[in-house]
Amino acid sequence: MFGPIELVSADISCWKCGKQTPVHALQVADLEEFEPDEEPDRLEAATFVYELSLSSLPAAVKAGLASKAPNYKPLFSKTVGEVSWANACVHCGLLQGAFFLHHKPDGPFFGGPEEFSGVRTLLSAAGFDVDGASYSR
Ligand SMILES: [Zn+2]
Repeated sequence: MFGPIELVSADISCWKCGKQTPVHALQVADLEEFEPDEEPDRLEAATFVYELSLSSLPAAVKAGLASKAPNYKPLFSKTVGEVSWANACVHCGLLQGAFFLHHKPDGPFFGGPEEFSGVRTLLSAAGFDVDGASYSR
């Protein structure tokens, strides 16, 4: 993932308890995807990244998330089948699924960085490699 890396934040109603909770994702300036035995595929566009694997984040980025987005943390997702970085409701603690946030037309991150007009906070000027994540544009 190429920097700068920004935290994007929005408020939604929790699907379970109905109260307002912040939700977050990472915005990267550009991204290059590596798959075994394939040519690297560079997007050449800003992208939202989510479902990052547990070991993906540098310590400084983790520290930034802990202070700016404490409900964005490693959670088990049945959809993903493992623990990844995701959003918990600040009231009831339940996972706010990435599919709704990124892929439903009324999700706050639908349409990718070009459509997003909410809050952005710088997390890291430099990019870093991750060993597993999803992305949407
Ligand atoms: Zn809730």
